[in-house]
Amino acid sequence: MKLFDLSGRVAVITGGNGGIGLGMAKGMAAAGATIVVAGRDAAKNGAAVKELKDAGGQATAIPVDVLKEESCRSLIDQTVKAHGRLDILVNNAGMSIRKQPEQYTLAEWHTVLDSNLTSAFLCSHAAYPALKRRGGKIINIGSMMSIFGAPFATAYAASKGGMVQMTKSMATAWAKDNIQVNAILPGWIDTALTRRAREQVQGLHDSVLKRTPAARWGVPDDFAGIAVFLSSPASDFVTGATIAVDGGYSSLA
Ligand code: NDP
Repeated sequence: MKLFDLSGRVAVITGGNGGIGLGMAKGMAAAGATIVVAGRDAAKNGAAVKELKDAGGQATAIPVDVLKEESCRSLIDQTVKAHGRLDILVNNAGMSIRKQPEQYTLAEWHTVLDSNLTSAFLCSHAAYPALKRRGGKIINIGSMMSIFGAPFATAYAASKGGMVQMTKSMATAWAKDNIQVNAILPGWIDTALTRRAREQVQGLHDSVLKRTPAARWGVPDDFAGIAVFLSSPASDFVTGATIAVDGGYSSLA
């Protein structure tokens, strides 16, 4: 089906070496995209590339630390040099430091904001010239913390709320270049990130289960379909949107 065909497209996925990023990568690779897996951990990068290739996809890895501007710029430069183009950027890398607001140091605040939000700005800024050549897609990963708050998530929620507003602003700025910019808001998904959260926040596992209408935690593979949709011609008139992939979590009063 041409609407969802990503053949010949090149996609950079920050944090594509595991969790939600790899779930999206698997869907996009199956739809024909060449995936550039961009994480810090070389072993995880290698394992993700192998998994994508073993499934019949095309993938390479470029190491990146999204906390560093030069590393973000080099990721995009290296991708365009190696593949001759860039069509899709997924700003997925992220982390959290969980504590009460009064307990954050300024350095911790910046680490969370820079990892989750400034990184997406930097990668999008670096990718813009390449994306506008043929039109392109940016997918930003928000969170339920883009719309709700939690006592342990002040910095994380600030970064993910900012992600939504940045998405809308870039969408309006770059529509003229045929670049669509959208955000996905995952519900509670079983990944390394939330395994740590469940160790740190008592009762989290059960409270999520109880509140999620689909009656389960999400899995990374739940993101394959939405990633293909937002990367493909099927979404060419969708821009500035925030789409929850949350088993109904955010719809329940
Ligand atoms: P993971 O911990 O599995 O993935 C996080 C990814 O981000 C890793 O691949 C990691 O790569 C990468 N990363 C973190 N910091 C950096 C950095 N400085 N430079 C480069 N890469 C970095 O967790 P998830 O899959 O859950 O998280 C993916 C995204 O989804 C995040 O933005 C998260 O906030 C968001 N999200 C997750 C939810 C969930 O329930 N799991 C809910 C809502 C949003 P490496 O290990 O190589 O550093």
